[in-house]
Amino acid sequence: MPGANQHTRFVFVTGGVASSLGKGIISASLAKLLQARGFTVTIQKLDPYINIDPGTLNPYEHGECYVTEDGAETDLDLGHYERFLNIPTSQANNVTTGRIYQAVIEKERRGDYLGETVQVIPHITDEIKYRIQLLGDCKKYDFVITEIGGTVGDIESLPYIEAIRQLKWEMGTNCLVIHLTLVPYLSAAKELKTKPTQHSVKTMLEYGVQPDILVCRTEKPLNQSIRNKIALFCNVDASSVIESIDTNSIYKVPLLMKAEKLDSVVLKKTKAPVRRPPGLKKWEGFIRKLDSPKKTIDIGLVGKYVELVDAYKSIIEALIHAGTENHCKVNLRLIHSEQLDDSNLVDKLTNLKGLIVAPGFGDRGIEGKISAITYVRKNNIPFFGICLGMQCAMIEFARNVLKIPRAHSTEMDPATPNPVIDIMEEQKKIHIKGGTMRLGAYPCELKPKSMAQKIYGQELISERHRHRYEVNNIYLERFEKAGLIASGINPETELVEIVELTDHPWFIGVQFHPEYKSTVDAPHPLFIDFVRAAKALP
Ligand code: GLN
Repeated sequence: MPGANQHTRFVFVTGGVASSLGKGIISASLAKLLQARGFTVTIQKLDPYINIDPGTLNPYEHGECYVTEDGAETDLDLGHYERFLNIPTSQANNVTTGRIYQAVIEKERRGDYLGETVQVIPHITDEIKYRIQLLGDCKKYDFVITEIGGTVGDIESLPYIEAIRQLKWEMGTNCLVIHLTLVPYLSAAKELKTKPTQHSVKTMLEYGVQPDILVCRTEKPLNQSIRNKIALFCNVDASSVIESIDTNSIYKVPLLMKAEKLDSVVLKKTKAPVRRPPGLKKWEGFIRKLDSPKKTIDIGLVGKYVELVDAYKSIIEALIHAGTENHCKVNLRLIHSEQLDDSNLVDKLTNLKGLIVAPGFGDRGIEGKISAITYVRKNNIPFFGICLGMQCAMIEFARNVLKIPRAHSTEMDPATPNPVIDIMEEQKKIHIKGGTMRLGAYPCELKPKSMAQKIYGQELISERHRHRYEVNNIYLERFEKAGLIASGINPETELVEIVELTDHPWFIGVQFHPEYKSTVDAPHPLFIDFVRAAKALP
């Protein structure tokens, strides 16, 4: 049941002028403020591309693919929603144009349209409206915040804006549009410029949508006369012109939005009951700790997409949560696995207090990852291997400790005589790529008294997966005899989920992705303990 209201309110967040203004963070910040007032909130992202989901997208195209509890491969903004709200999202929270068209075409093939001509309006727009309202239908939420991907004016976004126009007409004050724009500062003129915002709102008006609130991204404060000018030209009241000034942490944005009264304006315009002011004590405590670290430590992240921090978004955020919990600032050094070899290893890894080897696919950069693991294993530097990072740790140990020189994963070397990592049995018969990996939450049983068990403080955990390959259990006994033990096992399938070295200060590999579950309110225990161990290194 929604709190004090029998109906759900729908808030749309669109973007204008430029991409990358931070619609996801604004949506998550508004959601946080409403949640902190006691409302139930969820956030949804509608992506205008034709892929069914981002699972098949190269990280260069779209950054990290975020995986939900129910195994949906989704946009990385869903990660922000979970990190801010501390509640899980699901398949319904991310919809793409591909999925919309797929559903409509399936209905057409079934004959559901009874001979009608199937068109963008009303059939595609109806499907969009259905997906938006689905989240309101379960009566769980007071607010559904829907972020529209892309920038207003893009051809791809048109059906979404049209769906919003119709919903606004149908729902009246239960529906509200926030438009995020850029107010650039021209240093030559020493002036903030409102024209791009005016043009962006004009584009919205051409489509029949009048934004109710304008959130203006800016590097300088907006004075009252700029706010008045934007209000006058864009048909909103000055109190609905919200400044979103650049800040050094995304986690400060909810506090900035609170100071700008974004949540109060939303409540007023949607005629929602005004509940207590947002209770953000815990959040503010986190920000205070974030701003006053007692120590700075260097942690390395070895991967093949290091030019692109979005590819490792959740890992980077999990390290910020864990660093803050440990009162220290994690200085992340991104290390390109393709540029790592035995000749430059010591140089590149020098002074690191911990090393993460990232998830990934394919054999590009794999030998660099393996060399880096040899170095941290031998030098007692804390090591955290995530998914492919764990698989690399197994290969490294097999080659250098078990003395199996051709040990490999069949992903990289299908003909290896020693497949210590091999394709999962149920994956062998699957040949299509989209949505077919081992995805989503699976249980894992922890070995009593293992490091993993002590860190989690429980015996049974659940973590999210996204992979096709696994540890080959034929080799497990040899690994364990030599000191690399399986400390986490899937109780139903016997798949190895966690490995750890018994004679190393901190050497853990996980087949799952703990980074997806780290939030501001609940930083992940493995990341917290990894940073603690790194911080303890002299
Ligand atoms: N490529 C590996 C697999 O499919 C690891 C995947 C990952 O790191 N997410 O098993």
